[in-house]
Formats: sequence, C-alpha cells, structure tokens
Amino acid sequence: MKVYFIGMILLAIVLSPFAFSQLSYAVVDIDKMGFEALEDLKKADSIEWWVELDNQLLVLCSEEIQTEREIKKLKTEAKPELLYFVFRAHQSNFVDISADVLIQGARYAVIQSHSEELPVLCHPTHPGFSPDVHAKLVDFSPNTVLARQGTNQPALATSLQSDPRVQRLVDQVDGKRWFATLEKLASYNRYSYGSEILEARDWLVSEYKKLPGMEVSLMPFDLGGSTAYNVVAVLKGSKRADEWFIVGGHYDSTSQNPLSSAPGAEDNASGAAGVLEMARVYAQNPPEATLIFISFSGEEQGLHGSRHHVKELTKAGNKSRVKGVITMDMIGYTRDSLLDCLLETGRGNQNLLDIFSQAAKQYTSLKILTSFNPFGSDHVPYINAGIPALLVIENDWNRYPNYHRTSDTPQKINLEMGTHTLRMNVAALAEMAGLR
Ligand SMILES: [Zn+2]
Repeated sequence: MKVYFIGMILLAIVLSPFAFSQLSYAVVDIDKMGFEALEDLKKADSIEWWVELDNQLLVLCSEEIQTEREIKKLKTEAKPELLYFVFRAHQSNFVDISADVLIQGARYAVIQSHSEELPVLCHPTHPGFSPDVHAKLVDFSPNTVLARQGTNQPALATSLQSDPRVQRLVDQVDGKRWFATLEKLASYNRYSYGSEILEARDWLVSEYKKLPGMEVSLMPFDLGGSTAYNVVAVLKGSKRADEWFIVGGHYDSTSQNPLSSAPGAEDNASGAAGVLEMARVYAQNPPEATLIFISFSGEEQGLHGSRHHVKELTKAGNKSRVKGVITMDMIGYTRDSLLDCLLETGRGNQNLLDIFSQAAKQYTSLKILTSFNPFGSDHVPYINAGIPALLVIENDWNRYPNYHRTSDTPQKINLEMGTHTLRMNVAALAEMAGLR
C-alpha cells in the first residue's frame, strides 16, 4: 500500500507540467496593451522572465500563456546562458551573425549565440568605422525594458496643459524651411576628412549669424591628427541666464565612398537642420534660460564633437549649469504613415522623458517610444558626465536602406516626420527654458 502510494506521487510529479516541461521562448504581441494589462501579463505563472521591446514581449515560458494576445513560439532552443542584448548606434544588418536574433526593434536586439564564444556582429564597413561605437554586446538581464511604447507607459501624475504661448511657438516651426536647410547641407560632402565640410561649417556660421541675439563661435578640436569644428550659437537667457539648455546634432556625414560623396540627408542633415530650425524659432522668442545650439562634427568617427564639448564644459566648471540637452540624429525618415519617434535617455532622467512624451501628445501626432538604454550618438557623452540628455531619433532608421550610403539624399526625407519632431522639441524646450 505504502509503495503504491509513493508510486502515485512519483507518477504525479512526472506528469506535472510544472516539473518537467520544456522551457521555451515566445514573443507576445503587446502593441498598445496598456501598462496595467502588461504588468499582469508579466506576472503570469507560466512566464519565467520577460524582455519588453516596443510591441514585443519576449518571454521564457513553461507552458501555454493565458492571453488573448497573439503569441509566436520561437524555434530557437532556449539556452538563456547564451543570450545577449545588442545596442545599435545605427543600422547593423545581422547578416552572417553567429547567433539567432530573437527580437529586434528600436535600437536594440536580443540574440542567442550559437556557441559559448562571443558572437561576432556584422558591421557596416566604411572609412573611419569604429565597431564599438556602432554596436555593442551587453550582458543579458531578464525582466528588462529595452524600449517601451508611449501607450504602454504608466499614466503620468501630471499632464501638460495646452498653452497658447507654447502653441504659438510650435506653429512657428517651418517644415519647408527645415527641408530647404537639409537640402543645402546635403549639397556638401560633409565627411569629416573631406573637402567640403569646412564650407558646410561656414554656411552654418553664416546662418546662425543672421539670427538676432546669437553669439556664434567655432569650437575646434583634434580629430585623428586634423582639426574638426563644432559650430556653437548662444542665445542668452533673459532671466535665468545661468541655466543652460543645449540643442545639438552632428553635421558631419559619411558613406561607403565618403571621399567622393557623402550627402547624409537623413544622417544627419535632418538633425543638423533641425538644430538650425529651432534656433530660428527661438531667436524670435528668446526664453528665460540660455539656449546653446551646437552643430557637432566628428560624430561618425566616434562622437568626437560632443565628447569635446563635454570636456570643455567640465574644464570650465560649467557642467552643473546645463539643465538639459536635446540631440537629434536622423529625424526625417519614415517607412510608413506612422510617425514613430524614439526618445532615448539615461536612468534618472525620467523627467526629461515625461516632458517630451507629453509635448508629443499635446502638440504632435508622433507615436512615441522611450528607452533608458542610451547608445552610440551625441547624447551619450553628456549622460556619461551626469548631464541630463535625450536623443530624438525616428524609429524606422534601421529599415532605412540608404543609411551611410551615397544614396542618402533629400528625396528620401519625409517633411511631416521632421516637422512633427521639431514641434515636439520646441514645445518641450519651451516648458523647460521658460517663455517670457
Ligand atoms: Zn548620425
């Protein structure tokens, strides 16, 4: 009898789905699910751990998940010890990568290596290319948000009220003027070691100089033995001059053949023209705090312009004056009619993220994604120095076929995408820098 009883217990354990069922990977569609429903899903008994990325929730699960959402089981055999995150600066196509890509989106991916050796990422190759700036492997950690949809954020305690003064400023963003600036910039070969980048620099100087109240200067720095130049335009604050806000974007560009052509319309004439457009709007409406507009150089060789600026801020003891930094890198491309835009910052800058998310909601039709995993653009040196900084980047960039190609020309740019992005930026900055 006793033997029979023990036998029954053993049989029950063997048959139990919890005891010996195989763990597997699945991806749940969480598009616009809402924060609370998503939290509930993550707590399901069958889910061992999760990783959230835009509209996808990668899970390691032990059995069927009870949800009405679409679930895709992955074929990759679960070996969580071989998982990595990949952070990507710009496009990296995972061709011939020695790993399975489980999910990817925004500027991130989760991959499982084919072996214990670190997977080799396939990088674009062009002169001056530096792999660690373009993509990096990051240790996997479960229950991580890589990037989150605005619609899956927890509700904010406060919401931005529509303000007619901000609206007036937002309405002054001129998409056609932005595009004309972009076209002008794209007409120069702006490769950092190229022949025309100094002409582009001088043109930027002359444009900033046309604006009332702008103090314009060049900030030279060493770039691999030659000299590169940031262009800096300062609009002194009317009441809180010692509080600084920085608006930046790199004006250098590259391509597969940069010595002959590097129009860089999207990367990053779009962002550099965005900086100038914001300067034009604010020059007519100087805020209480000081605004510093910077066109960076040497970004494509490793964020040299922004790094240099942070070094200068530190040396001069001005770091604590900087209350916020907005950088724009690729703001003009969209693959479809959905204007999706990624806001990327460091942990501890939730405030900054909230202001931009709310500004987007109030003044634009952008679909916002947010991330606390900053990587590979001009916001990073500031964040690393403890300065609150945020990158604004359109979210279809990884599907942009002309990225770092001589074909990155103005025809590929979407006016609405850039205009709405700039409207958000102008509104967010108005909230922070104070209108007179
Ligand atoms: Zn760029």
